[in-house]
Amino acid sequence: MSDQKAVAIDLGGTRIKFGLVDETGEISNEYVLPTEAEKGPSHIISQILAGIRHLLGSIDRSLVKGVGLGTPGIVSLDGKTVSHAPNFAGWEVVRLSEEISSQCNLPVEVENDANVAALGEARFGAAKGEKSFVMITLGTGVGGGIVLDGKIYRGLYGGAGEVGHITVDYQGAVCNCGGIGCLEAYVGQKYLSRRTAEKLLGGAQSKIHDLVGGDYSKIEPLIISQAAAAGDQFAIDVLQEMGTLVGVALATLLNILDVRTIVIGGGVAGAGKVLFEAIEVSAKSRAVSTIRSGIRIIPAVLGNRAGMLGAASLVFQS
Ligand SMILES: [Zn+2]
Repeated sequence: MSDQKAVAIDLGGTRIKFGLVDETGEISNEYVLPTEAEKGPSHIISQILAGIRHLLGSIDRSLVKGVGLGTPGIVSLDGKTVSHAPNFAGWEVVRLSEEISSQCNLPVEVENDANVAALGEARFGAAKGEKSFVMITLGTGVGGGIVLDGKIYRGLYGGAGEVGHITVDYQGAVCNCGGIGCLEAYVGQKYLSRRTAEKLLGGAQSKIHDLVGGDYSKIEPLIISQAAAAGDQFAIDVLQEMGTLVGVALATLLNILDVRTIVIGGGVAGAGKVLFEAIEVSAKSRAVSTIRSGIRIIPAVLGNRAGMLGAASLVFQS
């Protein structure tokens, strides 16, 4: 095995995480800079370059195989442009890989962050050895990465995998995307917290009230799962409803793609057994009988390392 390393970058809305990753998935020299997204794309690029320079100062450059970067937004099929990065001010279409590679003289691979997380789980995590699977990330939003025959399926223009916008109720809640009844409009962190707060304000009794000290703006999935783990029926019902809805969306994917493994990551996925059981029951009951056997719904294992390890996978697979 070579001792080559990848410069791995996880570009997030508030922080940019950097690290050196070797082919076994070991991360070293971790470094974090603020994104300061409100200052616009050229500032973000200069932050990225500052982080890369910092890392290159600590390693023999001949050992660096390249730079891998996971970013929000849509990465064009040729990997050259990133557009529609949500919450990034002034970010229309940015030639991210070119801007970086021209300054640091290294090959740069850029991929959407949900896809990057799926690649990380495929190479180093829960989906090791799986040729085809779907990863769904339950966080602030609901992201998806589709891996078919070992490769990310990116669609015609790079926008594939929008699992969060599968309709689960055609007459339902309005989603951030403008659509009606999307999965994300029910289980995205903000929506989930808000709906839970509304139910509590409507008089529902729950330990959640005490866990947040009566401040419902503090409701988050971890709190709901803590209450559920303590036997709180209201919290269990919230997670079961959430799991049912996720399962409805996943059944659609299972039926269409004929895959058997779904990896679930993101903050909400830490909610544990109640949620996972509900997802599994819901998905299996809606999957057509020919594909029902062998369905596995498993938690991601890389946690907050997924972005970095997936970014490194971009380098090692190229
Ligand atoms: Zn939507």
